[in-house]
Amino acid sequence: MLCERPWVQPEVYEIASGLYCLYLGRDVTPPSPVSDIATNWVDLDWKWGVCSYVIVGGGTALVFDTGVYSSQGMWIRSFVERELRPKRILVVNSHWHLDHVSGNAHFADCPIIATMRCRDTLSALQDKIESASLWGEPAVSVVLPNITFADELRIQLGRRSLHLRRFDLHTPDSVLIELEGEGICLCSDMLEDTVPFVTEFDKIPVFARELSRLRGLGCDVFYPCHGNPHVIENGGYGPSFIDAMEEYYCSLEKIGSGEAPASLPLEECIAHALSEGAVSVWEPYRSVHAKNREGILASTRGAASDFH
Ligand SMILES: [Zn+2]
Repeated sequence: MLCERPWVQPEVYEIASGLYCLYLGRDVTPPSPVSDIATNWVDLDWKWGVCSYVIVGGGTALVFDTGVYSSQGMWIRSFVERELRPKRILVVNSHWHLDHVSGNAHFADCPIIATMRCRDTLSALQDKIESASLWGEPAVSVVLPNITFADELRIQLGRRSLHLRRFDLHTPDSVLIELEGEGICLCSDMLEDTVPFVTEFDKIPVFARELSRLRGLGCDVFYPCHGNPHVIENGGYGPSFIDAMEEYYCSLEKIGSGEAPASLPLEECIAHALSEGAVSVWEPYRSVHAKNREGILASTRGAASDFH
């Protein structure tokens, strides 16, 4: 049994009628409850900023991601029950990464929906996650999704129509929620402000195609899980958010191919997006960019040696 720590009260933004963002980190909340652990992955998310969403309709509250550490799930559940008083609670996990599923244990009696790939990945990694040997401390008690789908699922919440769609973008199991007829897309980690956190560098061409498919949905407003709280609170991101990710992936590929210098600064990788105001530089994302640069160079070196 994992030791529960005190929770931190997130900032709660009602960003549309019956749509809530629960935001932690950046400059809007106190430090994380695990900041006494010298090296821990939660504090990285905290620096970048991380949030969950709750969608309400027809007496149901749907929780999109259960929190970045376990007791955050407890806070989300108590908020939903106390403030929103739904007849039932559904959970959707956007993807298997621990900053999105750590609170699942507090929703074990609810339907927990995710892609099959998400469930399979969590199941395969369960021992490592629970022994803190995957990402390090803190360990997470894994509660697997109990309803899965392959690529698409529709959920009706009263008059609200939700369309869950899997994209091979950020991770192969990633799912977004489109609020049909409202122009709103909860895009999980497919889009990030300042830049995407990349782990699969050989997939960048796939990500580029998936970004085009995402644009084709025609959504007007995007709400990410790692974004600027002041933008999220004030109307969200426009479609230029997708352009910003494309520009960044293109710059990373140029670094990988040697067309651009390995030292290309963050600002130059997204120069157009910054000039348009699509995203803004949040200082802790410089470490994400540095890691992405290392990753793309290692990946292209690996591909070259494979060739020989
Ligand atoms: Zn994340």
